[in-house]
Order: sequence, then C-alpha cells, then structure tokens
Amino acid sequence: MPPTLVTGAAGFIGFHLAKALLDRGDVVLGVDSMVPYYDVRLKEARLAQLTGRPGFTFERLDLADREATSRLFERGGFGAVVHLAAQPGVRYSLENPHAYVDANVTGFLDVLEGCRRHPVRHLVYASSSSVYGGNTKVPFAVTDNVDHPVSLYAATKKANELMAYTYSHLFAIPATGLRFFTVYGPWGRPDMAPMLFARAILEGQPIKVFNHGQMRRDFTYVDDIVEGVIRVLDRPPAAGVVPPHRLYNIGNSQPVELLRFIDVMEAALGKKAVRELLPMQPGDVPATFADVSDLERDVGFRPATSIEEGVRRFVAWYRAYHRA
Ligand code: NAD
Repeated sequence: MPPTLVTGAAGFIGFHLAKALLDRGDVVLGVDSMVPYYDVRLKEARLAQLTGRPGFTFERLDLADREATSRLFERGGFGAVVHLAAQPGVRYSLENPHAYVDANVTGFLDVLEGCRRHPVRHLVYASSSSVYGGNTKVPFAVTDNVDHPVSLYAATKKANELMAYTYSHLFAIPATGLRFFTVYGPWGRPDMAPMLFARAILEGQPIKVFNHGQMRRDFTYVDDIVEGVIRVLDRPPAAGVVPPHRLYNIGNSQPVELLRFIDVMEAALGKKAVRELLPMQPGDVPATFADVSDLERDVGFRPATSIEEGVRRFVAWYRAYHRA
C-alpha cells in the first residue's frame, strides 16, 4: 500500500489523524518542522506515541523549504496527502505575520507542486472556519461569501482554498479543503481556550473571557474531526468533475457560548473558575456555526460528540498528562 503523507503529524490534529490511519493499517509518513509556537515537548510526546508503530515513519522537515519538499515528493510515492501543517492561531497572526505566509502559503505551494509533479489519488488540506470572518448569517455554509477574512491567519486559509482550486483546475489534482471549527480534545493545543481554561481553573487564576463571554464557538471534538477527514480522504472527488476540487465544513453544528463552555469545564474539573470579562479582541469573530449538511450528504457523517462528553475526555487526559 502506498504511504499517506500526513503533514503537521506532531501537531494536535495531525497526531490524532496519523494514529487513526495506523489503527486501520495504513502506512503513514509523518512530516513536521516542530515549530516552537507552543511547547515542543508536547509535540515530542505526541510523536513518541506514534514512533515505533508498524507502518509509521517520521521526517522533520520545513515544507517552506522548496528543495527539501521537492525531494520528499520525489522519493515518497504517496497514495494520498493530508496537509495539516500550518502556523495556526488568529491572535498571533497580528504579531508575527511572516510566519503565516511562510508556513501557510509558501509551504502549501510546495505541497501543491509536489502533487502536481507526483500525482496522488487525493489531496486533503485543512482550511478553517475563520474564513467566514464576521459572517452573521448562520449556520455558515460553504456557498457563503468568504471574501472578508478578519485576520491574516484567515486570509492565508482562504488563499489555500484559492490555490488548491487553481492547481486542481490546471493540473487535475483531486483536492478537498476542510474548514475545521474550533477543535478540542486530548493532546490539544496549549494556545486554545480549553487548555488555557483548564490550567487557569486548576491554578485558581482568572480566565480571560473575551467579548464578555457572549462569543459562541462551534467546539468540535477531535475524534469527530478525524472521522470526517478519513471519510473524505477515502472519497476523492468523482471522476469527470471539473475541477476536481471541493470544500466541506467539519464542525459540531451546535455552537456553545463561552460562559456555558466554562460551566461545563468547571463541572468536569470539580472546581470553580474566576472569570475576567474582557472586550472583543481584534481578529476575533463573535460566533462560529457550521452547516454540515454537504458533509453528511456526501460522506454519511456528521460530528456528534456532546460538549459534556468531549470536555470530560479532555479533562481526563489533561489530569493524566499534567498530573493535575
Ligand atoms: P498544530 O499547531 O498543533 O499543528 C500544526 C503542525 O504543523 C505543528 O506541529 C507545526 O510544527 C507544523 N508546521 C508548521 N509549519 C510547518 C512547516 N513549514 N513545515 C512543516 N511543519 C510545519 O495545529 P492543529 O490545531 O493541529 O491544526 C492543524 C491544521 O488544522 C492547521 O492547518 C490549522 O490551521 C487547521 N485548523 C485547526 C483548528 C483547530 O481548532 N485546532 C481549526 C481550524 C483549522
């Protein structure tokens, strides 16, 4: 079986995806440059769970290094590619814009070039709910206008969709972009609300609650994201579709107010939070809400993990990992 390339394999979603692909017997080459945007020890700990498993190999590589990525594709013989490597985070994109263009635009271009020169059955790549910007029509559908991103991060994700569309059109690359909605779960990202909130509650520190807690987020459990990615990966655009490019939302389709999310977290941790209510941050959006009817129609799946169940599993992992 030709290997599947998973980029960003030491990252939160990439790690879970690589694990699930290995569980079903796929051969996986994981690639990651181990960016120190957050604690690299967490990335190493994720990788340690994969290393040594039959079918898994790992290469440390910066996809924005054109030569290195070109060599990777030359010798790879990949059946499929799941591109998850990126510089994530809305707020950090205001501070360090170049990191976003390097990883998300140049890095993705190198992956597209790889797929152009060494055709694959399917390229699946991560986009983001952030492309919807300040869209107020809910739920967000992939047919909505997304020409108004409100952060550079969102702009690079929108750029990815345009680049993939163009490459798919010009070079018949079967490609699918997935707009993920606020992903959470075990081994999650330390810069995101669930991890920040859990740490603050356990340490008795105040939680910064932006937009006075009125923000609604379509929190999506990581196992649902992985199931969605695999279902899509196994079903490339049908032959004869021109261009062979599609987009789907993957989100829980049940947005939760931040204040309610904190209530659920308090219940799971058995400890009260100290809330510090703050105004809206630049680059943030008031609400996210996925319309997943296309996903359900085409791949027979929609996320279903309740926020209570997902937070319970996250907290169990958090306590074990941090001995907290
Ligand atoms: P993550 O930061 O945990 O994982 C991304 C990984 O990519 C990191 O390990 C990083 O080291 C690696 N990387 C960055 N630049 C690289 C480069 N130039 N070459 C090789 N590797 C590089 O983030 P995540 O939450 O797992 O996100 C995965 C994907 O999903 C990203 O594309 C992200 O934009 C997208 N996404 C995530 C969420 C979410 O809520 N987590 C929501 C929407 C979209």
